[in-house]
Amino acid sequence: MVDKSKIKVPKATPQDLTRLPIKMPKITIDHNKCTVPFWCKKCLQACPQLVFQCYCKHLEKLRESDPRQPGIYEVIAVRRDKCHVCNKCVEMCPENAITITLEEA
Ligand code: SF4
Ligand code: SF4
Repeated sequence: MVDKSKIKVPKATPQDLTRLPIKMPKITIDHNKCTVPFWCKKCLQACPQLVFQCYCKHLEKLRESDPRQPGIYEVIAVRRDKCHVCNKCVEMCPENAITITLEEA
């Protein structure tokens, strides 16, 4: 039987951590396919990490923006560092507009 208290594990220094090959997912949204995100919102609802945000591109003073009109709203991945690549958003997207790939940070 091995006495675990005698096993010495070297601690990682901050320099060691900067050398780790940390991968961050690249999230691409095809805005030609995703035209009415505020009406759809499926990726926003599916993502457990709240990576996506939907914003209004064309604000008109004293006029309510119609979420069903294409090109008024746009969805962006604002917190891609939080993404754990579960692919729920990709599966839920009815337009196949989301692509997730891993890249070097
Ligand atoms: S699920 Fe797809 S189509 Fe719907 S808002 Fe998200 S990216 Fe756009
Ligand atoms: S892969 Fe998962 S965590 Fe990443 S953006 Fe999509 S739903 Fe969110």
